[in-house]
Amino acid sequence: MDKKMYNRLGICDEVVNFSEKILSDLRERFDEIDETAEYNQLKVISAMQKNRVNATCFAATTGYGYDDVGRDNLENVYASCFETEAALVRPQITCGTHALAVALSAILRPGDELLSPVGKPYDTLEEVIGIRESKCSLKEFGISYSQVDLLSDGTFDYEGIKAAITEKTKMVTIQRSKGYQTRPTFSVTQIGELIKFVKSIKSDIICMVDNCYGEFVEKIEPSNVGADMIVGSLIKNPGGGLAPIGGYICGTKECVEKCAYRLSAPGLGQEVGANLGIMPAFYQGFFMSPTVVSGALKGAVFASRCYEKLGFKVVPGSEESRHDIIQAVELGSKERMVAFCKGIQAAAPVDSYVTPEPWAMPGYDSDVIMAAGAFVQGSSIELSADGPIREPYAVYFQGGLTWYHAKLGIMMSIQKLYEAGLIDRNLF
Ligand SMILES: *Cc1c(COP(=O)(O)O)cnc(C)c1O
Repeated sequence: MDKKMYNRLGICDEVVNFSEKILSDLRERFDEIDETAEYNQLKVISAMQKNRVNATCFAATTGYGYDDVGRDNLENVYASCFETEAALVRPQITCGTHALAVALSAILRPGDELLSPVGKPYDTLEEVIGIRESKCSLKEFGISYSQVDLLSDGTFDYEGIKAAITEKTKMVTIQRSKGYQTRPTFSVTQIGELIKFVKSIKSDIICMVDNCYGEFVEKIEPSNVGADMIVGSLIKNPGGGLAPIGGYICGTKECVEKCAYRLSAPGLGQEVGANLGIMPAFYQGFFMSPTVVSGALKGAVFASRCYEKLGFKVVPGSEESRHDIIQAVELGSKERMVAFCKGIQAAAPVDSYVTPEPWAMPGYDSDVIMAAGAFVQGSSIELSADGPIREPYAVYFQGGLTWYHAKLGIMMSIQKLYEAGLIDRNLF
């Protein structure tokens, strides 16, 4: 690569050379990522061909949205791709949390219990479930919750899970990605084993997987290994960076129908919900998603290896297998977190001139810093980094619509640390 272009963007020769050296070690890893992307690209194309996607699918509908061919067919494409009986893919699902809340409240009834066999769920679900008090939580509707934490080595506590399953247990929620925790992300195979175990104890338990950040990272999805529902956000992986809003729920016909009744109204279900002209972005984003995810994965592996070499703890390690697109880097100090995020921000195509600062955020007990310069606000399939300013001072880094942008972001983060004298210059 011509260094001059990097120099022009403010990256010095030392950082460019360091990056190129790291990259030369990652060829095999990148080949593997490309191979998965190729497989998943074919999977998406095959689903589109099978459902005879054509130009009428891209037309806008308004009002009730009856007989919305584009919307209905997109749901068939998702169902074919993820090999489920049915799918609900809608702009009316406002985000991942909403999709998960719809799925949970569609299935659970007063007196039922929800079990998380993988420890604490994602922050925003605490209020949905009622772990933290909230209006309209499942708890307010008389739905109880129990949780079995992972064992200290990050594996499932099968005995604990067995003991936690009672007559009341109606549904199990499994979060694939580590989210903002430092536990490992589960592979689809591991999730399959867990589902099999749960169903061997009580066969009618509905198993839902929070699939956020996991789509197209592997060749199979949790729906291929027994999940009754997989749920996610379209401003993460499956929207391919093009979807400006939305969420999906793919699963059994029975489950998806209930979700549709919950989302709109009993009796209306999937029949209503105009697409408002958003279909081209949904179809094209899904088409792009395997490639976009592969770029994000390369960025995550590259970040992992760079920061490992610079002496920081990274989760996952650069040689570990990957099951989501999130990379955690424990930077050990507030100053380094700020410098890292400044680098990510400075490398963005949008809002590159703003400076991220730690700030108080609702739901957090410490200040949080965030860096993002995205075309779609809050999109985390686009390059972004954030983290709470507290021990172990970890930043969570994810996304990148292209590998080259992810690469620049990581190089710029190293540049900012280098300039501020916050990393050992002898390592360069
Ligand atoms: C992002 C995320 C969510 C919530 O999605 P939002 O779109 O932010 O509401 C839930 N679970 C996991 C694991 C996530 O990564």
